Amino acid sequence: MILVHSRAELESVLAGKATTLVPTMGALHEGHLSLVRAAKELGNPVVVSIFVNPKQFGPSEDFTTYPRTLEDDLRLLEAEGVDVVFAPDVDEVFPAGHQPISITLGQLDAVLEGAARPGHFAGVVDVVGTLFTIVKPTAAIFGEKDLQQLAVVRRLATEQFPGIQIHAAPIVREPDGLALSSRNRFLSEAQRKAAPSISSELELVAKQLAEQLAAPQREAGDLVSTTRALLDDAQERINAHGVLSTEYLELVDPNTFEILDEPRPGAYLATVVRAGATRLLDNRAVGLKP
Ligand code: AMP
Repeated sequence: MILVHSRAELESVLAGKATTLVPTMGALHEGHLSLVRAAKELGNPVVVSIFVNPKQFGPSEDFTTYPRTLEDDLRLLEAEGVDVVFAPDVDEVFPAGHQPISITLGQLDAVLEGAARPGHFAGVVDVVGTLFTIVKPTAAIFGEKDLQQLAVVRRLATEQFPGIQIHAAPIVREPDGLALSSRNRFLSEAQRKAAPSISSELELVAKQLAEQLAAPQREAGDLVSTTRALLDDAQERINAHGVLSTEYLELVDPNTFEILDEPRPGAYLATVVRAGATRLLDNRAVGLKP
């Protein structure tokens, strides 16, 4: 495994080879490693980038306290047989005079994570587009854990990097259902104990929605009000732990992030739950086949 820090070193190591890129912010866990394994399966050399991107953190967010564990990360990536790790400084990715890469995000930036974190997706687009420009991979892998980010990246690739295939990898969870996240280490004992209710409530609501859709006797508008009630009840149960507070729980189209008022094939449940200062993201397909 070769570790490089600069664009110039990377360029000479890759020498124009077809590669698969796995972008990360480090503090790696099994979720990240599942992306690496999916990348390896594609057959080309795998490049993992480790870069905590300041542009995707708001002024009051956790950029300075975001965990940085490069030594451990390198050990894990070496064991996975990664070919190249690109761990640049901020100035290397965004040198003076950097022209930001941008796309029109529209709805993707107006709701849920876009609304909660102004400027976040513009920062994601800039860093992912810049990494695509530097690494020039033929494929890149992203986690469904960040479902709205995945939609943003897919749009970026379609519009500006049509030669890069975007692959999605499923969410890796703890045995009790909590989605793995670099931020889980910040949970208190009580928060950690309550946190699996996020995924179990998503599972329950998905099941309830599927049942509602299958139920025969319905009047116009019933499904809309039942859907809202099921989403609200799940939030209340999550909040009842006392240590968790739901920011949102919505039914969405995973490509456009249109908020849906009733279930339809392909719909996802998307949520963010606060545990103190830590925001826990999760989502799940409702499971209705097109
Ligand atoms: P991050 O380091 O948080 O920027 O994440 C890097 C990549 O890993 C993103 O594509 C995430 O969606 C993905 N990822 C993070 N957590 C998980 C998880 N629990 N399961 C699968 N992928 C994940």
